[in-house]
Amino acid sequence: MAKKQFKAESKRLLDLMINSIYTHQEIFLREIISNASDAIDKLAYLSLTDQNVGLDRGDFAIRITADEKNRMLTVSDNGIGMDRAEMEENLGTIAKSGSLQFKKDMEEQKEDIDIIGQFGVGFYSAFMVAEAVTVISRKYGADEAWMWQSSGAEGYTMTACEKDCAGTDIIMKLKADTDDEQYSRFLQEYELRRLVKKYSDYIRYPIQMDVTKQRVTEESKDSEKPEYESYTENETLNSMVPLWQRNKKDVTAEAYSQFYKDKFFDFEDPIAHLHLSVEGAVTYKALLYVPARAPYDFYTKEFKKGLQLYSSGVMIMENCEDLLPEHFRFVRGVVDSQDLSLNISRELLQHDRQLKFIAGNLEKKIKAELAKLMKDDREKYERFFGAFGRNLKYGIVADYGAHKELLQDLMLFWSSRENKLVSLKEYTEAMGEEQKYIYFAVGESRERLAQLPQLELLREKGCDVLFFTEDVDEFIPQTLQKYAEKEFRNIAADDLGLTSDEEKKAIEEKQEAAKPTLDFIKETLGDKVKEVRLSAALKSHPVCLAPEAGMSFEMEKYFQRMSPEMGVKAGRILELNAAHPVFAALQLAVAQDKEKAEKYVRILYAQALLMADLPLENPTEYTDLICGMMQ
Ligand code: ADP
Repeated sequence: MAKKQFKAESKRLLDLMINSIYTHQEIFLREIISNASDAIDKLAYLSLTDQNVGLDRGDFAIRITADEKNRMLTVSDNGIGMDRAEMEENLGTIAKSGSLQFKKDMEEQKEDIDIIGQFGVGFYSAFMVAEAVTVISRKYGADEAWMWQSSGAEGYTMTACEKDCAGTDIIMKLKADTDDEQYSRFLQEYELRRLVKKYSDYIRYPIQMDVTKQRVTEESKDSEKPEYESYTENETLNSMVPLWQRNKKDVTAEAYSQFYKDKFFDFEDPIAHLHLSVEGAVTYKALLYVPARAPYDFYTKEFKKGLQLYSSGVMIMENCEDLLPEHFRFVRGVVDSQDLSLNISRELLQHDRQLKFIAGNLEKKIKAELAKLMKDDREKYERFFGAFGRNLKYGIVADYGAHKELLQDLMLFWSSRENKLVSLKEYTEAMGEEQKYIYFAVGESRERLAQLPQLELLREKGCDVLFFTEDVDEFIPQTLQKYAEKEFRNIAADDLGLTSDEEKKAIEEKQEAAKPTLDFIKETLGDKVKEVRLSAALKSHPVCLAPEAGMSFEMEKYFQRMSPEMGVKAGRILELNAAHPVFAALQLAVAQDKEKAEKYVRILYAQALLMADLPLENPTEYTDLICGMMQ
């Protein structure tokens, strides 16, 4: 019979599987069993509303048969099955494009990562241990069964066949043993039992196998020297109780981690887990995890948040989005509740009152868990914040600040004084009595911000300044308005409230005296600046640039990046340090040599732009001016 070809990408992946360098070949069994369990889930779900299925929960099972003589390992299920088209589609194609590339990249990096299954290539893992795979399947409700056969990358055949009930048999002809690999171990009772326990213990349907046991023979029962005989017995290998249904005290930390890694295809342990058993208005159990790092697509539209939803042990939704708010979209896990109406349609479920209740509850619990982590294990929390902090910040500014109360104490920002991350609570608690505001500076990097001229005065006064280096940071003060009754002040833009009335008066007087110089500067620079004034904040630097109230330079840069066509620009205010020798030199030049004074002004303005990390309008002119001075 003519062989059908695999789709090109599938063929390559299959090749990779067959010649796999993957050291955990044993996981093929987990993949095959988990497919069987999914297939049963589907039929079990159907049986809740369709009397014709004729199977009860107790009738579903997965069977493993090992035929040592013929090197055949079979995994059978009585699930939903596949029809001809589905077999061709599901077993002949890779579900998601991109998986092949990912696998190749990983192999090039020689990283032994559990990506198998991550992209829906689980079934192909059978080819790591089998030289030929036969799939016999009959779809529930269909009269005919089909057989799919393949010995690898050359292709597969489809043949009509007989099968008396709905379900699927996956028959694997194991590869010949080599010096390095004993594939025949996958036929041994002990090994199969171990693998089921290790990877598939929580599968909710019995995984059964005929096991050989010893017993005293009937004849020798009463004799002094009993004789033994072997017999086989059908045994269920898995405990079937899902982890979340167990008692917390019976579950080890390792089991929690392993479950997470298997179920959510992560290769790293989670940072935290949360096992809840709630009784009351709505009764439910939940097992939630905070991953250690953001998935590669986390900050894109492709990422799908959600928790798996079960009702009394039957999965009713793979990804229930409504259970998680956007700000906690990084959480993975399962929720199982007997109170959810099962035969409600999936769309309706989204408006279910119980579901809303659970979602509200989970949000509070997740928040509490994160707050606890921050308190008890700061290092871990900072790792978490490194991965998902940006998402929490988006959460604060989203929905007009509706979630700010919930999230504000989970924030961390870099403290210029402490040289580490601090929370707003820590910042305000460490504030001196006389400090009125929470100070922050916005820029591209901590290193740049540490050099801001405006920082000097605050340092001198012993005030801490928070460094905002992410796009979203600057929107946080706008959303929060206040924290612990303290307003926020941008050190580059706002009145810092540090000058006493006397100092203010003194500046005003100086301002008056310096008027001719300041006017000269304004005239020279024209529309480039909105205002020229003396500064109260400058110490060792002669000039700085402050934005006009309303928009900071960082905001300007942000909008320039996002939508340059808008031409958003913050008004520039040039501030000068009257106590600096350069100012005296400038004053002198204004009085004696206007041409020179004009050059000074242009240089100072360019320097102010540079320090504010803004582009120079004419860099060549600036260098020429400096060179002119040096000659
Ligand atoms: P995934 O399970 O991640 O989607 P697989 O390659 O493991 O990817 O399987 C591909 C598809 O083949 C499954 O999604 C399912 O539709 C179908 N399939 C695999 N095994 C079975 C089975 N035992 N019964 C029914 N369908 C199955």
